[in-house]
Amino acid sequence: MTALLEAWDLAKHYPARQGLVRAVDGVSLQVARGETLALVGESGCGKSTTARLVLRLIEPTRGRLRFDGEELTGLPPAQLRRFRRRAQIIFQDPYASLNPRLRVGQTIMEPMEVHGLGSPAERRARMEELLRLVGLAPYHAQRYPHEFSGGQRQRIGIARALAVQPELVVCDEPVSALDVSIQAQVVNLLKDLQARFGLSYLFIAHDLAVVRHMADRVAVMYLGRIVELAEKRALFAAPRHPYTRALLAAIPHPDPARRGRVTPLGGDPPSPINPPSGCRFHPRCPFATEICRREEPPLSEGAHQVACHHADTLPPADLDFTGGLSETAARRLARYAEAAAAKG
Ligand code: ADP
Ligand code: MG
Repeated sequence: MTALLEAWDLAKHYPARQGLVRAVDGVSLQVARGETLALVGESGCGKSTTARLVLRLIEPTRGRLRFDGEELTGLPPAQLRRFRRRAQIIFQDPYASLNPRLRVGQTIMEPMEVHGLGSPAERRARMEELLRLVGLAPYHAQRYPHEFSGGQRQRIGIARALAVQPELVVCDEPVSALDVSIQAQVVNLLKDLQARFGLSYLFIAHDLAVVRHMADRVAVMYLGRIVELAEKRALFAAPRHPYTRALLAAIPHPDPARRGRVTPLGGDPPSPINPPSGCRFHPRCPFATEICRREEPPLSEGAHQVACHHADTLPPADLDFTGGLSETAARRLARYAEAAAAKG
């Protein structure tokens, strides 16, 4: 497997009055050709900043980036032109990201013009083909974004991203703003397009439910760092980080009668300004001990990576994978947490 995108120890810090905002603080990831790597974590954990970093839309504070084997780190903007065509982004809010004054056809043709692709007639033909590809029709080209529903607008955003035939598409919460009934349609469209064009996706979401149907591998992010990274099946079947377990437990079971009592994530909402010492998750972790407050756990190597001092000794997750934590599992976890706390 050759990685199309490789990021090593990427970081982005912003100075603020109260200290340093460590928006992203040491993220390494690879996306293979044709693969979907999902990046999941709560709002504010640094997902969009990671997206901007890997697209070179912002300069990293530290770290390295390679695309298709070529070093991107330190390349001046003029030499990024080719990369700018090969890697595209789809945004969460398709209304905010579409120019309201441009007709849809123009919106889709614009990136082709910027990159000097094709003649005007070829661009128009390609635009009409793209509209069909995303489930719209050529006559939609004459209309303005406000004439479309949220789901249709996201289809326009997808057509625009695909106009220049990219290889990597960063999808930054592409369905988070859509009605649940529409989400699956857009996810299916993205999957069809991926199969057809061999696209690689970095697919960002704030919950694990959305990525279940989309991802090949999943990276779980917490306060600027990846805390767990594994094949989707392994991550859902045997989550190793307490934070991943909490995220899984938060997915409601489709059948209310089978919903377990979900143990909510306690503690303060995390802030990337002066993050906690040691393991950043320790103030909210039911299993935290002395070492967790003191030492930052490194992300382990191998196929199923985890950054937790106690990953090997935690009780089995015992999750009901169609839904949240079962009641017995929640009780067992609580007992274990008490015992761990008593041990210090
Ligand atoms: P997510 O996409 O996971 O919700 P973001 O990457 O947008 O998170 O933001 C991560 C953190 O970095 C947030 O606390 C956010 O307020 C902060 N942040 C993002 N961009 C900037 C910036 N330009 N200046 C200062 N802080 C920023
Ligand atoms: Mg975001």
